[in-house]
Amino acid sequence: MEDITLTCTDCGEEFIFTGGEREFFEEKGYDEPKRCKSCRDKRKSEKGNRGFKPY
Ligand SMILES: [Zn+2]
Repeated sequence: MEDITLTCTDCGEEFIFTGGEREFFEEKGYDEPKRCKSCRDKRKSEKGNRGFKPY
């Protein structure tokens, strides 16, 4: 699969969703990611450190 560019719903930055990742997501039946890696990492670490905090 080809790499595609998606737009992050959090920061609005474009990020690459690679062909390998697309195959993995499709195999698992996941939807396309809505956030870039840095936002996902940020949310994950915030969740881990401080618990769930809605915006
Ligand atoms: Zn982002």
